[in-house]
Amino acid sequence: MSAPVPPARGSTVRGALEAALTSAPESGLTAKDLSALVGISEKDVAGHLEHLEKSLKVQGARLEVLPASCLACGFTFKDRRRFTRPGACPQCRATRIDPPAFRVIG
Ligand SMILES: [Zn+2]
Repeated sequence: MSAPVPPARGSTVRGALEAALTSAPESGLTAKDLSALVGISEKDVAGHLEHLEKSLKVQGARLEVLPASCLACGFTFKDRRRFTRPGACPQCRATRIDPPAFRVIG
């Protein structure tokens, strides 16, 4: 009896992520949204997004990042290139941060 060959998990997850992000609303989807939609843990989302961003570039599409912002003072993490949620606000040190959201353009 031979074991069934499992699908290539990485590419399947990324395909599901890409599909979710392509049909995302203008406000984008957060890591939490994506983890629920795709069935991966929230902390794994950033890693998959990094790979997805590279493959999107090859296709001529783009991963748009809607930056995180501080709920206390409104500071926007515009220059942040990472896909994870920042730990604290550099301006007021608050830790209540509205997480970044993502969508695919093109
Ligand atoms: Zn702040």
